[in-house]
Amino acid sequence: MVGHSRRWYHNRTVGNDDTTIYALSTAPGKAAIAVIRVSGPACKQIYQALCPHTALPEPRYAALRKLYTPNEPPSPSTVLDSALVLYFSAPNTVTGEDLLELHVHGGPAIVRAVLAAIPKCGRPGAIRYAEPGEFTRRAFSNNRMDLPQIESLGETLSATTEQQRKLSVRGTSSSLAARYEEWRMLLLQARGELEALIDFSEDQHFDESPAVLCMSVAGQVQVLKAQIETHVTNAMRGELLRNGISVGLLGAPNAGKSSLLNRIIGREAAIVSQEAGTTRDIVEVGVDLGGWLVKLGDMAGLRRAGLIGPDAVGAIEQEGIKRAKQRSLESDVLIVVQDATAELDPEVTETARKCADLGISVVVAVNKVDRLPNNDSFAAWKKKIQESLHVPRERIFFISCLDDGNPTTATPGAGIGALGGIHDFVNGLLETFQEMTTALAPDSEGDPSIWQESLGATERQRLLLSECLDHLTAFLSLVHSPPMGAEPPQNSPQSGISHAPEVNGEEDEAVDIVLAAESLRSAAESLARITGRGEGGDVEEVLGVVFEK
Ligand code: GDP
Repeated sequence: MVGHSRRWYHNRTVGNDDTTIYALSTAPGKAAIAVIRVSGPACKQIYQALCPHTALPEPRYAALRKLYTPNEPPSPSTVLDSALVLYFSAPNTVTGEDLLELHVHGGPAIVRAVLAAIPKCGRPGAIRYAEPGEFTRRAFSNNRMDLPQIESLGETLSATTEQQRKLSVRGTSSSLAARYEEWRMLLLQARGELEALIDFSEDQHFDESPAVLCMSVAGQVQVLKAQIETHVTNAMRGELLRNGISVGLLGAPNAGKSSLLNRIIGREAAIVSQEAGTTRDIVEVGVDLGGWLVKLGDMAGLRRAGLIGPDAVGAIEQEGIKRAKQRSLESDVLIVVQDATAELDPEVTETARKCADLGISVVVAVNKVDRLPNNDSFAAWKKKIQESLHVPRERIFFISCLDDGNPTTATPGAGIGALGGIHDFVNGLLETFQEMTTALAPDSEGDPSIWQESLGATERQRLLLSECLDHLTAFLSLVHSPPMGAEPPQNSPQSGISHAPEVNGEEDEAVDIVLAAESLRSAAESLARITGRGEGGDVEEVLGVVFEK
């Protein structure tokens, strides 16, 4: 099967022809050095043409060489540059082919001259500039990288926050693909056992009865299903790290939402992206808060609401509130800002409660505590919020957004930590993020650390896993599965197999097993598509997505 998919891949792509490819691997522009990479069978020939009469450096050892214009007698006037040259011999290279790296001086004219010289080192057409991502394509074709690794590579290159970096680094090992492959093998084995049952059921020469065998397979599938489900949950947690945690801000007008945002952005967080809306409004701001990518939505709505006086509920403000409510329901974390000197707003309370019921983590910031007469009011507020918003104590913070201009002193009279409690509040938020993005382990396995890597599973992988789970569910409903860990009943030969009406029991039984085996085959195929070992079109699709970046 593996060999087959490889052939299929070669036939459909520019894959491994016998051309040698080269490209500038560092960013274009003026720099101290520039690295030009060459991969393919003509590496040695290119070296000989650029560095005539000198020995090819020992593989993996750097050597300083003068590069000359090819096909001309080497002389001081034909020197292109002096470069650090590295040679790696196939197959243990990043592409699986012979590889040459030329570390030249980074001046644009030098880079241009060396790049222009390389294709002249061989017969016409044998050496050409690489297409985008072609080195990686070759690595895949030569089994040097699997699809999950390639996906991670794309993420490694585009990671902007610390958490994204950690996530992508986790995925660059081959452990994810190895896990999928292990699951696929288990499924193929289980299917094999069932198929043996179909082929030989007449003979009855089984150690186990068909029903017992079916139940044992079903038991294995159930354990596997629980593992895949955990993996999918973790993949969704990983998506929060990769795509950012969507944070909504909710509060009555003048509660201090804009003030809180201003205090967080700049001092505690750095803006990493801004997405413009249809007008000049910013609809989403990405900030790096303690290493997490946080997406704050609908800044326009927030700002407008903030601009309007306490008693005026104008149309614009109404719109702001409407948007904020909608955004709250779509967020992963909701920050409720409550003015400590005002009553709870019923609309805010209702929306916050709805969010909590949807499983959204709600964090409350009681603001303007500089105006509270004494600390007793803190306890009263805590109780009131716990009761009406259903928010646990540890998620309620007391802050003051009043900026006294001195970041080291506590806000006078506030009775809260330095920086008006903002720092504690941000720490509380970060703890919430941490909880939401920690990998879970299946009940059957105690050690969550080996499940960390499943945070790195991409959305594509997750969708294929969900497809796999659907097939496993179909399988289990065909074969009545015993509760996990339960012993199969001994005296009921057909109890593990689902029956159609009792018209001709034997045949229906067989049909069910055929279908069941087919579900397992489909489930295995979904896993195969993740690693690029299958028949599906995912290989091209994934490579395309990665190379677009
Ligand atoms: P928004 O409508 O929720 O965005 O509220 P704003 O951030 O615009 O704040 C409304 C008003 O409350 C402004 O005049 C702020 O200066 C003031 N304000 C915000 N935070 C505090 C605070 O912690 N203490 C006091 N005393 N005033 C605050």
